Amino acid sequence: MQRVGESGWLILGSEVKQFEGALSDYWDGLEAVGCGNGLDALEIALRSLGLKPGEPVLTTPLTAYATTLAILRAGGTPVFADVDSQGLIDLEQTSEIVSKRPDIRFFVPVHLYGFSLDLGRLQELRRGHDLRIVEDCAQSIGARFGGRATGTVGQMAATSFYPTKTLGALGDGGAVLTADPALALKARQLRDYGQTEKYVHTFHGLNSRLDELHAAVLADSLLVRLPTFLERRKKVAGRYLESLSNPKLTLPSPPKGSEPAWHLFPLLVEGDRADFQRHLLHAGVRSGQHYPRLANDQQALGGKGETFGELPRAREFAAKQVSIPMHPYLTDAEVDRVIAACNSWKGRP
Ligand SMILES: *Cc1c(COP(=O)(O)O)cnc(C)c1O
Repeated sequence: MQRVGESGWLILGSEVKQFEGALSDYWDGLEAVGCGNGLDALEIALRSLGLKPGEPVLTTPLTAYATTLAILRAGGTPVFADVDSQGLIDLEQTSEIVSKRPDIRFFVPVHLYGFSLDLGRLQELRRGHDLRIVEDCAQSIGARFGGRATGTVGQMAATSFYPTKTLGALGDGGAVLTADPALALKARQLRDYGQTEKYVHTFHGLNSRLDELHAAVLADSLLVRLPTFLERRKKVAGRYLESLSNPKLTLPSPPKGSEPAWHLFPLLVEGDRADFQRHLLHAGVRSGQHYPRLANDQQALGGKGETFGELPRAREFAAKQVSIPMHPYLTDAEVDRVIAACNSWKGRP
């Protein structure tokens, strides 16, 4: 912080450049473009890829609303498919939809909860249907499938440094990622008023730049600790997986070949979910729901968009999912307390 203050250069300087380089090294060499937040990063990626006004964009209804909002702000029309048994967009149904609907060129999959989608299947979808894919990696930094990082299959990816995210900054931040230098350049222009040269505005851009201060803190204090943070999350997840034994709770089972980042630890609760969460709270354990209302049901959408079928699995997650504590600062004693609280719930229909 002192270094940034003394430099007198607070926006788009050497700190952002340095952090972008370090993030790129971490993220399988993808070029990183620091942005104001994850929502803007998704919008910038979609616009960099040339989304046309009103164009359909296939996505998941079970996500932070920001995923849908970015599609809308980029001028697209969200098209919702159902999720799979783990709550991630169902790539089988996706494949059927894009086979029948050649008008769908854009796809925004979300690596929800820090679980990677099957990147081999995603790659086949991109190739087989000439899709433009923006991977929403807001929850999946550090997640891999078959040794490969999420975000490396789509033409572009976006992530978020919102404080609760796995690589959380001391405020808002985000990044666009891409292996394509031309797309990276476009994203750099879009985040900075659509300037192609100083005072030359070639298209409508945003003001969405990662601050020097955030970049410095991310690079010096947080990104360097990310592997340790991920290791601790994995340990906690391992303890939960081996010790949670309440038959009313369905545990997550990330696909074989994947390395989850364990951004969250999602359970499905059979019975009265509110009663389960109250039971946890009495034991001093806070919990969350990700996400209780599907994007296609949000009032803000104003009936726009298209939905494939009744989305039964997404609705099941919206009704039954609970996230128990998951972060790298959890102590072993706290993890034990969470496990005891979960296992002692008697259930209530
Ligand atoms: C957090 C999040 C976003 C939005 O990121 P912000 O930085 O909060 O704008 C988008 N998509 C997903 C899946 C997220 O979890």
